[in-house]
Amino acid sequence: MSKQKGNPASRIQDLQFFGEFGGVNPSIADSSTFTYLAGKTMGDVFEGTREGCYLYSRHTNPSTSYLGKAIAEMEYMKGAILAASGMGAITSTLLQLCNSGDEIISSRTIYGGTYAFLRNYLPKFNIKTKFVNATNLVQIENAITHKTKVIYCETMSNPLLEISDITAISVLAKEHKIKLVVDNTFTPMIFSPAKMGADVVIHSLTKFINGTSDTVGGAVCAAEDFIEKMIDVNSGSAMLLGPVMDSMRAASILKNIRTLHLRMKKHSENAQYLSEKFQDDGLRVIYPGLKNHPQHEIMKNTMNNGFGFGGMFVIDTKTREKANKLMEEMQKDNVGYLAVSLGFYKTLFCAPGSSTSSEISEAEQKDIGLSEGLIRFSVGLDDDIERTYRIIRKCMKKLQII
Ligand code: PLP
Repeated sequence: MSKQKGNPASRIQDLQFFGEFGGVNPSIADSSTFTYLAGKTMGDVFEGTREGCYLYSRHTNPSTSYLGKAIAEMEYMKGAILAASGMGAITSTLLQLCNSGDEIISSRTIYGGTYAFLRNYLPKFNIKTKFVNATNLVQIENAITHKTKVIYCETMSNPLLEISDITAISVLAKEHKIKLVVDNTFTPMIFSPAKMGADVVIHSLTKFINGTSDTVGGAVCAAEDFIEKMIDVNSGSAMLLGPVMDSMRAASILKNIRTLHLRMKKHSENAQYLSEKFQDDGLRVIYPGLKNHPQHEIMKNTMNNGFGFGGMFVIDTKTREKANKLMEEMQKDNVGYLAVSLGFYKTLFCAPGSSTSSEISEAEQKDIGLSEGLIRFSVGLDDDIERTYRIIRKCMKKLQII
């Protein structure tokens, strides 16, 4: 783990990357391949006996390295590699860590794509996943066998916003020599899973970190030796499966990550405001910043100060029909967009049961409390959130939701 000084925002602020001619932004390495003066040096790089040379952009590239360094720094990790999407980061990490016959223990409330990968895809390689309630340590412990290689969870789960007690889970993982892989997509800056004992921290950069909804992207942060393994030319999952990020994209995300701390504060402030208001109006609201959230205290005691409780909240309109109507009304009144994804400057809303979590069967959705009337909000950077509240409230009144 990297030295633990500074908060995540100042660690990014303190980085200095210059361009070729003293530019305040690093130059973009717009090349897929790199020249060598001597054939022997190239051979040594392939052999792994020489380090520090760029070779080919599926391996590493200066532009992706800059963004990787910034994300690793933010996550208190020594190394990071970038992927073309969050799923690219998740799938290559799990395929690096697991072999045929191994088992994974995963939280049962996770992003639908990850769930589908674990449940439907990995069995092809004879890798089995046991899904548990990750807020229940006893369930996790009971699921461990000598075959368990990975415990997988999200710091704040998609879409039910459950908070995993990473510190406690990591004690368990270390005791059994299992790797703890944590997806921190919903809570960059807010949580630092590596400081709490996670071995690998994953991000979908598509969301808050980039913040402009113009690209998909992913990152894997870990110790240097694990990152080296992932890009090994003979056996690295990232190198061989090839889910790499383009250098142009890496350069543009690097510019956006510099304002992440300001955006997270504002997203959180706005989500806290709306969730308190709607709770007062009598709606069932899920938001970890509310005192009645089951893991409110755990979050309060383990999060980094100053970034709030995150930009996501969920309301229950009771029926799918009402949820759909409300989203259509809100879009008409320009509250935001009926769209999946999160972390945009505009509010985004969707009904997770029939969209981002549709990979989870109806029976399982019911089991985990993912009811059909839920709407997941990614709250935007609205300057006047009181005005936004009034508009949403008007839509709710019209549909007799409140
Ligand atoms: N992790 C979480 C928590 C997500 O919400 C998502 C996508 O919604 C992903 C991972 C996958 O990221 P991407 O869409 O960038 O592949």
